Amino acid sequence: MLLQQEELNVEYYRLSREEILDRIHKRKKELQDRLLILCHHYQQQDMFEFADLTGDSLKLAKEAATISDREFIIFCGVHFMAESADILAHSSQKVMLPHLHAGCPMADMASVAAVSQAYKELVSVGIVADEKDMVPVTYVNSSAAIKAFVGDREGSVCTSSNGEKVLQWALDKGEKVFFFPDEHLGRNSAAALGVPEEQVLLWRRGELLGGNSIEALQQAKILLWDGYCEVHMRFLPDHVREWKLRESEINIIAHPECPRDVVSIVDQYGSTEAIIAAVNNSAPGSKWAIGTEVNLVERLQRNHPDKEIHLLAPITCQCTTMNCNQPVNLLWLLDNLANGVVKNQIKVDPEIARSAAKSLEQMLAI
Ligand code: SF4
Repeated sequence: MLLQQEELNVEYYRLSREEILDRIHKRKKELQDRLLILCHHYQQQDMFEFADLTGDSLKLAKEAATISDREFIIFCGVHFMAESADILAHSSQKVMLPHLHAGCPMADMASVAAVSQAYKELVSVGIVADEKDMVPVTYVNSSAAIKAFVGDREGSVCTSSNGEKVLQWALDKGEKVFFFPDEHLGRNSAAALGVPEEQVLLWRRGELLGGNSIEALQQAKILLWDGYCEVHMRFLPDHVREWKLRESEINIIAHPECPRDVVSIVDQYGSTEAIIAAVNNSAPGSKWAIGTEVNLVERLQRNHPDKEIHLLAPITCQCTTMNCNQPVNLLWLLDNLANGVVKNQIKVDPEIARSAAKSLEQMLAI
């Protein structure tokens, strides 16, 4: 979903990087008791420096919810993350994004209209007798509206660290599972649980019955929405093979949003938090090739000069939408707040927020 970002006054573009960073420091000090800045791991370093809390999306939203005395929450991340923070925040808190073009293309690949249509088609041809027989699971990287759709059908959210656990819960609960929006997290989680490949089916958006035959749908236990993260799709099996040939001692770790043919041949895979922990806990001198967003990999390189850390691919894999959030946007937001004006607020409709919260609570219960 592309939101319209207000043009910044031209004066902002005349400021040097140092002036911008210096003015952010001052504004942050001025607003400190009222302000909480959250920063996702994929954000560039100049933004990261201003974070009160850093982490993955759910960790940030959950921690922010425990700090209810800060009136303003600036989420240096993407739109769905700010939505989750708004859902979990106290009603008096205002959640903002530095730049409204900071969306997640993968989250946008699953709309409520398309997902509802898929459910209708499955019932209409008798794959399930009732929508309730198809348990929905959505990756936290999805819109609040999709989380609400899932919450209303007694499904659950999952993260990249608990995908397998939530998928197992859903398999135990219903006849079939529909996993949104990331095909690859779903496929990697299903493989880890030992679900046979022929029981895992891809649902192609825009095609009748997702491009599948009735027989294949009857056999399937898990349907995967065909969403993907364009950043993690850039890692290829050849990158893994090349590193293994070049450096026999290297540890290769990838995020589960990477395709199955990559994840199946790396040494380890895991969420951003798991990747950070693996590198933090490794011995000095250890060597790593990491398949995730470049800003996180570069931060690990800076934080561990005693280790050899590489990006798994020889090309830059950057989340360009998240990096729409530039220091100048943060300064503009803070200048406005200092003048009593709230810009770029992300507010989830209360009814959607209530249903979405059910799917988040279900995950916490699992
Ligand atoms: S890295 Fe991928 S999944 Fe994460 S916010 Fe960017 S586009 Fe979305």
